[in-house]
Amino acid sequence: MRVLLQFPEGLKQEALRHAKKLEGEGNEVFISASPTFGACDLALDEARNLKVDKLVHFGHAEFSHVDFNVEYVNYQIDAPLGLLPQSLVYLKAYDTIGISTTIQHMHQLDSVKDFYEKNGKKILIGRPYGFAKMAGQLLGCDIGSAASIDSRVDAHVYFGGGIFHPIGALLSTKKPFLVVDPFNNKISFIDSYRELYEKRRRGKIIASSGARNFGILMTTKNGQHNLALAKLLKARIEKDGLTAQILVASTFDFESLDNMREFDAFVNTACPRIAIDDTGRTRKPLLSANELIEVLRMKAEQKGIEAQSMQR
Ligand code: SF4
Repeated sequence: MRVLLQFPEGLKQEALRHAKKLEGEGNEVFISASPTFGACDLALDEARNLKVDKLVHFGHAEFSHVDFNVEYVNYQIDAPLGLLPQSLVYLKAYDTIGISTTIQHMHQLDSVKDFYEKNGKKILIGRPYGFAKMAGQLLGCDIGSAASIDSRVDAHVYFGGGIFHPIGALLSTKKPFLVVDPFNNKISFIDSYRELYEKRRRGKIIASSGARNFGILMTTKNGQHNLALAKLLKARIEKDGLTAQILVASTFDFESLDNMREFDAFVNTACPRIAIDDTGRTRKPLLSANELIEVLRMKAEQKGIEAQSMQR
């Protein structure tokens, strides 16, 4: 069988080992060297180009159905649970806790739940909105497991490495948010990021107030491609007498975007985290669709005020 293997960045270090094993079993094996960010980003072009029989995607569960033979290889990581007793000190004031994690640690969520319950906490586990598949699982673009229970918990606990996943959940919740990171041996409330991200958001909107030419980013990635939204936003911008063009790439390169100097602002329709996390990587503001609507409303208000003062 001819197969193409695809690994997220954190697992690329193991690519050769897997390739050699499959080769030893009589397969013809290729490894995708492109960056990948999730199962929303399958190496389908490479797979079709090579005419492989199967694409093997490591580390993520299925995101959305694609018309290709894809095998998803789950990658469980046993994170040490030794920080949990210490986390109780941070959770003293909270009785009902919502817990969440990423797909790599889903098999440990019951142990985390048992631990807190044995220590007198009531534990709730929310359901994702659709892209993530399991209760308690967070994706950068599916924070339902935390947001769906926000009104019923006193605090949230995210168990896992880094802050990419909990930041998404943090921005869609209001309750105190504790990260228990067994890899960095760190426990911290990340609530202060809410204010920081809100400041950035306001800054982008104000910086876009004079924009006339908008570049709408549309990716070809299987799970992020949204032509309908890109067209809708283009029409909405043009309705206000402004200019918009749809810009296409698989992975957007921020330096290349900076070279497109005619554009005053960019609007993201790809992975929703781009407009949140990559703000500041382009010279021009990088807006989400909702932020664009705010910008257009602000411009319309401004126009109205100017028209009124002309009449006086
Ligand atoms: S957050 Fe972005 S990269 Fe991650 S799964 Fe969602 S769309 Fe894909």
